[in-house]
Amino acid sequence: MRKTIMPLIITAVLTLTACSSADSGSESALAASQTETESSVTAITYEIDPNKPLVALTFDDGPNITTTVQVLDILEKYQVPASFFLVGNNITPASSEVVKRAYDMGCEIDNHSKTHSYMNKKTQEEISAEVTFVSDKVKEITGEPTKFFRPPFIAVNSDMYEAIDMPFICGVGCNDWDQNVTVQQRIDNTLSQVNDGTIILLHDSAGNSQTVEALDTIIPSLIDEGYQFVTVSELFETKGVEISGDDSNLYTLVQ
Ligand SMILES: [Zn+2]
Repeated sequence: MRKTIMPLIITAVLTLTACSSADSGSESALAASQTETESSVTAITYEIDPNKPLVALTFDDGPNITTTVQVLDILEKYQVPASFFLVGNNITPASSEVVKRAYDMGCEIDNHSKTHSYMNKKTQEEISAEVTFVSDKVKEITGEPTKFFRPPFIAVNSDMYEAIDMPFICGVGCNDWDQNVTVQQRIDNTLSQVNDGTIILLHDSAGNSQTVEALDTIIPSLIDEGYQFVTVSELFETKGVEISGDDSNLYTLVQ
């Protein structure tokens, strides 16, 4: 009797010990990851010299929990900010966390409509509902409404300018929504179009890894050329251009 019970007790004790150490292990792993999440978002620090050339990196069609995260990792690596023009329908509880990280890093969160459809084919009421949806969602996440609007497909009309109370932003692009455009073409086309005050238009759509790869060359190349990276708001402010929802411009260059 003793002989059969003893091994059972030992086994039970061993199992309990194993369980409790596994539990405490996962608890400390959880605590570590929580601490990491809280402390890993450090604001990018930079000073703007108005006498040096400025450039604003912008990204459309996020947020998501894959490519947007990779873009943020690159921005963090080079300590440069960017502005993200969000599609409202892509804002989920999980992608909201990524938006919060971007905001906490010092990036700007802007507006690319709720449904990413042709706003110039909608009524003023529909247009207004599209941008208000995004602005309200962003305000829930960051505490701030969106400041700038990028029209989907860069399609604009007078109804849009009347309905939307934000400056419209375009930018120099390299067709990086097209998977046939290679990393090298993305780099070359972008760099060849940048001047002082240029807004660069790229996409952090899920799976757009070629743009992530291109960024790893675009950013250090522009830094080497003396460019300072700023948000779109900082670009307007530093260049002394009023941020007004009343004009009918489509900004690519702010000087
Ligand atoms: Zn878009």
